[in-house]
Amino acid sequence: MKPAYYLLTAIFLVTALVAVWTVTAANSPYRFTEYEAGFDEAESIPETNISLEPELLAIQDWQRPEGPLRVGLQVGHWKNEEVPEELEGLKKNAGGAQGGGKYEWEVMLNIATLAAEQLAQYGIEVDVLPTTVPPNYYADAFVALHADGNLDQYVSGFKIAHPRRDYSGLSAELEAIMYEQYEAATGFRRDSNVTRRMRGYYAFNWRRYDHAIHPMTPAIILETGFLTSPADRKILINNPQVAVEGIVQAVLEFLKVD
Ligand SMILES: [Zn+2]
Repeated sequence: MKPAYYLLTAIFLVTALVAVWTVTAANSPYRFTEYEAGFDEAESIPETNISLEPELLAIQDWQRPEGPLRVGLQVGHWKNEEVPEELEGLKKNAGGAQGGGKYEWEVMLNIATLAAEQLAQYGIEVDVLPTTVPPNYYADAFVALHADGNLDQYVSGFKIAHPRRDYSGLSAELEAIMYEQYEAATGFRRDSNVTRRMRGYYAFNWRRYDHAIHPMTPAIILETGFLTSPADRKILINNPQVAVEGIVQAVLEFLKVD
């Protein structure tokens, strides 16, 4: 065969390879939330043994601690380097997703701080919490704030999940109200890619970790949008008050405060 033929074949193969790679990357289902450490897969404990678990026996006669309404706003990936040994695996996440020159924790800390200020005006005690939740943490509503990332900048939208096993019986309601209010405030589309991993978020997993919510805490994880999307960043970074409005209104409605 002539050298020219080899050359043409080589050029063709390289071109084909690049084309396949480009298409695959663009259509990649990759989302930060699907690989993020701390989103545990389904647990192996069979349902039948649950009634024997000491944590659940303890909540049978549970009464809400006295005091004003309490809300926990967790800033995803904030102070990630300070996790206790049981959460060592989270260190891989560093600052979370990135976009617009910012880390996820910075953007979420800003939103959480603004929301906390507003909620405090209603006499609500608000804890702005880092990656590590205090052991057995109880609140009347717990909202973990995160932002997603994708290789494709046109992937955008928000999504919410509540714990896979919810003993408060209220988390689904908190989720539904947040969907409505956050959507109304931001105009973001709903990203339907809620995974089992989101529902197994480590801070929900009181069975496995001491640094997790109390089983009676109504809880959700809110993926506020994609930091890799310029459209979502217009709100998350440039006009966070819009996202804050949705979060605050949802919490007030859920707690029946006005
Ligand atoms: Zn995150």
